[in-house]
Amino acid sequence: MQDRFIHCIAQLPSTLADKLVPLLNDDFAGHLDAQQIADLVKATQLPVNELLLALLPVAAALAKPPISEFYVGAIAKGKSGDIYMGGNIELDGEALFHSIHAEQSAISHAWLSGESVIEDIIVNESPCGHCRQFMNELVAGQHIKIHLPNQATQPLSHYLPYAFGPGDLNITQPLLSKQQHELALDSTDPMVIEALDHASLSYAPYTGSYAAVVLETRDGQTFCGRYAENAAFNPSMLPMQMALSAMVRHNRDFSEIKRAVLVESGQGKISLVGASMDALHASAPVELEHIVLDPSQ
Ligand SMILES: [Zn+2]
Repeated sequence: MQDRFIHCIAQLPSTLADKLVPLLNDDFAGHLDAQQIADLVKATQLPVNELLLALLPVAAALAKPPISEFYVGAIAKGKSGDIYMGGNIELDGEALFHSIHAEQSAISHAWLSGESVIEDIIVNESPCGHCRQFMNELVAGQHIKIHLPNQATQPLSHYLPYAFGPGDLNITQPLLSKQQHELALDSTDPMVIEALDHASLSYAPYTGSYAAVVLETRDGQTFCGRYAENAAFNPSMLPMQMALSAMVRHNRDFSEIKRAVLVESGQGKISLVGASMDALHASAPVELEHIVLDPSQ
């Protein structure tokens, strides 16, 4: 079991802890599939929603909050029945708006894993306004059920009444809906091709600035992030943040980054290069490779 889970395991019911310890091996990055959840329900005799609340200390152990030291854990449950955990991340020494909220980490985890609908969000603290707005960008966002410890389960519409969302800006394919944008680039660099693939799956209906980041660690592993915009703009999740949060879920240290690539559309209204460089430089002494796609394509 990874060291970061030692403390949280002690907080879990023993029947759950016994079953969970073998799952929290070196490869664990916050994903449990529907069968593993069914096995845990059977072993613990807990109803699934109580089981997911009981797993929140595990999600919170994925957090990396050097500024607040306030550990938030969130779990996104997809329509597939799989669950995706995430914790909050703060970039040491960098402006607070670079922070990643636990719900964003969990939702982006689900998106990168191919989920197209999130039905439930389980979180150990009441979602902040930023996260309520971020969740409202999702497919059927108003119907997502929010589960909190010691609170009745309520849909997002209860937490975000009179919501402003993608529909108000005439967006009919919200975040997580299947969409693929035609982006092309002549490159044989596997990292660039990987970033291009993710950029084509990114969500930028307000600017057209489709973008993705790939980070490579010294051992050759890659971690990707896609751009995810928001109708209220500020709660958008930048691809660098999404890639950094993937690294944290995999228990990788930012000092392991050896290469970083940002690919972005040349036809968009904005560029993410400045914000991405700031977040990268706060994390690792690596220069960002910036590739803007030919605007004629
Ligand atoms: Zn939040």
